Amino acid sequence: MFSEYLESIVNERHISIGRKQMQEKNDILNTSIRYFKGVGPKKLEQLMKLGIGKAEDILYYLPARYEDRSNFIAIKDLKAGASQTIKGDIITMGNHITKTGARIFQIVLTDQTGFIHATWFNQPYLKDFFSKGQKVVLYGKVERYDKLQIVQPEYEILKGDEADSVHMGRIVPVYRAASQLTQRYLRGLAFIAVNKYCKFLTERLPTYILARQKLVDIRFAIRNIHFPTNFENLEKAYRRIVFEEFLMLQLALAMKRKESRLEVTGISHEVAGGPAAAFKKRLPFELTEGQMRAAADIERDMSSSKPMNRLLEGDVGSGKTVVAAYALTITVQNGFQGVLMAPTEILARQHFLNLSELLMPLGINVALLIGGIDQTTKKAIYSDIKEGKVNIVVGTHAVIQGAAEFKRLGLAVIDEQHKFGVIQRSLLKEKGRNPHVLVMTATPIPRTLALTIYGDLDISIIRELPKGRKPIVTYWVEEAKRGKVYDFIKEELAKGRQAYVICPLIDSLAQSSKPKVQSLSFDFNRDAKSKTQNVNEMVKKLRNEVFPEFEVGLLHGRMASKEKEMVMRDFKKGKTKILVSTIVIEVGIDITNASVMLIENAERFGLAQLHQLRGRIGRGDYESYCILLSNPGTDEAEERLKTIEGTVDGFQIAEADLALRGPGEFFGTRQHGLPEIRFGNILKDFGIMELARKEAFGLVARDPDLEEEHHELLKEGLASRFQNKK
Ligand code: ADP
Ligand code: MG
Repeated sequence: MFSEYLESIVNERHISIGRKQMQEKNDILNTSIRYFKGVGPKKLEQLMKLGIGKAEDILYYLPARYEDRSNFIAIKDLKAGASQTIKGDIITMGNHITKTGARIFQIVLTDQTGFIHATWFNQPYLKDFFSKGQKVVLYGKVERYDKLQIVQPEYEILKGDEADSVHMGRIVPVYRAASQLTQRYLRGLAFIAVNKYCKFLTERLPTYILARQKLVDIRFAIRNIHFPTNFENLEKAYRRIVFEEFLMLQLALAMKRKESRLEVTGISHEVAGGPAAAFKKRLPFELTEGQMRAAADIERDMSSSKPMNRLLEGDVGSGKTVVAAYALTITVQNGFQGVLMAPTEILARQHFLNLSELLMPLGINVALLIGGIDQTTKKAIYSDIKEGKVNIVVGTHAVIQGAAEFKRLGLAVIDEQHKFGVIQRSLLKEKGRNPHVLVMTATPIPRTLALTIYGDLDISIIRELPKGRKPIVTYWVEEAKRGKVYDFIKEELAKGRQAYVICPLIDSLAQSSKPKVQSLSFDFNRDAKSKTQNVNEMVKKLRNEVFPEFEVGLLHGRMASKEKEMVMRDFKKGKTKILVSTIVIEVGIDITNASVMLIENAERFGLAQLHQLRGRIGRGDYESYCILLSNPGTDEAEERLKTIEGTVDGFQIAEADLALRGPGEFFGTRQHGLPEIRFGNILKDFGIMELARKEAFGLVARDPDLEEEHHELLKEGLASRFQNKK
C-alpha cells in the first residue's frame, strides 16, 4: 500500500534534471559483472549468491572488516587472547594427531622476529593449499597453549610482489561469507569496480544536507569504504553511507506518518465526566506519574478528530492494563465499543477478569472471546457484539480472525505488541471505522529507538513501578545448590507464599518434537550444559520427592484451555502452592501471593524472556525472589545470567538484549514493511539515526511530496527501494 503511494508520487511528476545524463550513468553502473576480468560462469554463479550481479552491487558490497596491512604485528610482539594479523613465510607444515586425538593441520611461520604455529582443526586438505616458502597473511586469535599459537586463522596467500598495491601496504577490506571466492578475488573485483565505476555514482543527497551534516560525497565514501587511505577517511565514508541509509528509512517513516495523519478522520470522544471519571475515582490505588501522563496523552488523542495511534510502553508490572481500562471506559462512555486483544488465552482470560472487576460496577458489559469456548456460546457472543449489547470484548486472535463484527468499534487495544505483526494491527482496525488504537508493550526500548521502529505511532512511556513494590531479588545458582534452593522455597511456602517452577520443555527431549521456546528464533540449546528439564517429570518429582506436603499444579501449552483455566484458578485461590509451568506463564499473569520463581535451565531463555518471566512475581507486598538455576555452557549465556542478576531495569535489559541479539532479531524490521537496514547498526549508530531523523522529518514538513528539485533524487531513491522489496 505504502509502496504504491510512493510510486504514485514519483510517477505523477516528470523527473527532469539531467534525465538523460543520469540514465547513461545508471546504465554503466548496471554493467553486468560477467564483463569483469576473471568472471567466468562458475564465478558468476558464486557472485550471484552474494547478491552481486552488476557493477553497482560490488560498490555496495561493503567490507565486513579491515586489516591494517600497512602495519602488521611482529610475531615477537603478539599477545595471547586477542585477534591479530601477521605476515610471514611458511617454514614447515603438516597434518598431525594430538594427544587427545584431534586432527590438526599446522604450519610454522616466521617473520624475522620470531616463529609461530598456526593451527586448524579437522581440515587436513589445507595442506594442498599451502606450500613451503610461501608468504602468507594470517588473521586470528592468538592463544597460549604450551607455546603461542594462532588458532583457526583466516588466511591469504600472497602472490608475487609484496608491494602489490591492492592487497598489501594499505588498509585492506575483508568481505563477508565469500563461499568459494577468495578474499583476494573479491578484493580484486572491488578494486576494479572502485576505480572504474565509482565516478558514475550519482549524488542523491541535496547539497544543503551534505553541508549541514558535514558528509563526504558519495564517490569519496564508496572509494574509501573499500580502500580507505586512512582510518579517518574510513570513518567519514562509513558515516556518510549509513547516514544516507538511515535518511531513507526516516523519510519513509515521515511520509508514512504524514499520510496516516492526513487522510483519516477519527471519532472524536468526550473525555470529561461520566463513567471515565467514576472509574478513576473508584481505583483502589493512586495512579503513578507515568500512568497519569499516559492517561492524559490518551485523553488528548481520543478527544481529537484524528484517530489515536499510540504505543504504551512500560516495564512488566508497571500497570499498563489500568491505563487501557481507562481508555476503554472513555470509548464506552461515548457510546462505542472497545476491544482488547491479548497474545495468549491465559492472558486474555486474566484481562477479562480484571476488566470485569473494574468495569462491571460501572454498568459496562465485558465479554470474553477466545478459541476455547464452545460454538453456541461463541455465536451468542458474536451476535451480542454485533447488536452492541457487549461494550467491551476481550480476546485472542479469534477476535479478528473470527466472524466478530462490531456495531460501533471506537477503540482497539493490543496487548504485548511484540507478539503481533503490523498486519494484525491493521486487520483489527478494519473492524471499525478508523477506531482509536492503543498498543501496549512490555519490551521497553528507549523512546528514540522506539520512534524509529514504530515510527508511525506516538509513544507514552511509564517509567516507574507502582509505589511500594519491593524489587525482585535475583540469584543465579548452579546445579550443585539445588537442595538449598528447595529448602529456601519450603521456607517461603511455610510463610504462606506460593512459588513458580519454570522448565523449558513439556516432555523429555526424546518424546517431544522440537523444544518450543516461544518468540525466539535463535538457538539456545548450544548454551546448555546440564540436563534440560521438562514439566512432566518435574511435577512428578516435586510432588513425590521434594514437596510431598504441598499441592503442586501443572501448566503447559498443550493442555486444553478449560484445563488451563482450572489450573490457574486453583493457583490463584491458593489451592495449589507450587505451579510447575512452561513459559506459557510468560506474559501478564498476576498473582500477588507468589513470591518465588525458580527457573530451570535459565541459560536456555533470552534476556527479555527471563525478565518477563520474573515479572510474574514481586507483584504484591512481599519480598520476592527469582532463582536462576543454571550451569551455562557458553560465555554468552553466562553474560545473560549476570545481566539478569545484576539489574531489574527493563530498559537496561532491553538494551543489553538488543546488543546481544542484534536489531534484526530483536525487532524484525522486515515485518514493519520498512526498508531493510544493510549497512548501519541502529544501536551503535544511533547518533547518526537521530540526525537523519531530524533531517528527514524537517524535510517532509517543508516539502511534503518531495517536489523541490533538489529532493527529486531522494524521491526516486525512495521509490526504487520500495520497488526492490516487492
Ligand atoms: P503490566 O504493565 O505488566 O501489564 P499490570 O497492568 O498487569 O502491569 O499491573 C500489575 C499490577 O499492578 C496489577 O495487579 C495492578 O492492579 C497493579 N497496579 C497497577 N497500577 C497500580 C498503581 N498505580 N498502584 C498500585 N498498584 C497498581
Ligand atoms: Mg500486561
